[in-house]
Amino acid sequence: MKIATIDLKSVYLSLKSEVDAAVFRVLHSGQYVGGPEVEGLEREFAEFCGVPHAVGVSSGTDALRFALMAAGVGEAGRVSGAGEESGGRPVDEVLTSPLTFIATAEAITQAGGKPVFVDVDPRCLNLEPRNLEGVITSRTRAILPVHLYGQPADMDPILLLAKRHGLAVVEDACQAHGATYGGRAAGSLGDAGCFSFYPSKNLGACGEAGMVTTGSAQIAERVRRLRDHGQTEKYRHAEEGYNGRLDALQAAILRVKLRRLTEWNERRRVLAERYRAGLRDLVGRGGLLALPEEMPGANHVYHIFAIRVAGRDRVREALRQRGIETGLHYPMPLHLQPAYAWIGLREGSLPQAERAAREVLTLPLYPEMAEGSVDQVCETLRDAIET
Ligand SMILES: *Cc1c(COP(=O)(O)O)cnc(C)c1O
Repeated sequence: MKIATIDLKSVYLSLKSEVDAAVFRVLHSGQYVGGPEVEGLEREFAEFCGVPHAVGVSSGTDALRFALMAAGVGEAGRVSGAGEESGGRPVDEVLTSPLTFIATAEAITQAGGKPVFVDVDPRCLNLEPRNLEGVITSRTRAILPVHLYGQPADMDPILLLAKRHGLAVVEDACQAHGATYGGRAAGSLGDAGCFSFYPSKNLGACGEAGMVTTGSAQIAERVRRLRDHGQTEKYRHAEEGYNGRLDALQAAILRVKLRRLTEWNERRRVLAERYRAGLRDLVGRGGLLALPEEMPGANHVYHIFAIRVAGRDRVREALRQRGIETGLHYPMPLHLQPAYAWIGLREGSLPQAERAAREVLTLPLYPEMAEGSVDQVCETLRDAIET
């Protein structure tokens, strides 16, 4: 039997009557962008994250870009023209992880900042807080930790460091809807949290959507303005902004799915535990190097279940031949991407991220997945590794 990494259609079918009703409600309302569905989702998602403000935007990338701008990134270049330094490159530096989706770094550059990639903790592949202090300069403006795979980064030392140096902290929580750290929700820990509702995320729309969460009324206000062409009232523009609004159909569908999110995350954790039990004895014997490690204080929501294997590409091919689809998150760290050659980091500069990029392998895991399928992946993997 074939096993895919995700099955979005089965999610829809399991909620068909509620999703259909929500879609028809919007179609009949005549209001398709913004409006009561978007405001309803903002209220409900803010409550879910335990923050006073949530602002719906059109993607996780927009959420990151707007939150960074609202936190002051890019102002050096905009206000003083200081962006001319280093060949016209902007100077506000944002410390972030190289082991993430490119959107994290794109948002920094597009906000008018410069990404400064910092190596990760090999246990959880999140930013290693101890690597941050040494790269802080007078140009550093913010830290952008990514809660990779659904597990929050080690936020206490990051927040402490940010406070000491007067830096903003923006969370990339695009993979961590419902994850917690020290009992507090991802997205409520820094100055702002950024979520993607891309269809494959733990909370996914049927199209593109995103959200910024924040405790700051000022940040919320600025994000509201940026998503709508800088408008403060109709045809009055305090600044140039973007077309970054959330549409009502996505909001209505997300409201249905948000009610299931906690239950889905619990199911992900159950399946992750089953993988762990099924694979534990293989660790260290030949090919299987490590299973995902749960860090103290963090509640992992397993957006991605990534193991580490030697000879990853061979193992991946063996699984593919036996009908098991896998993923790579991520095969090339951002500092080695052609798009960031201008930063000038070479192979060997961030060894933990580089090593992880060679070894990580994402196994199928989604709430609708059957226990039997997990067992089948474990058995197939065992064969692939031992032969
Ligand atoms: C998905 C994702 C994004 C981007 O979200 P979009 O909605 O696709 O723009 C950003 N960062 C991380 C870590 C992601 O997984």
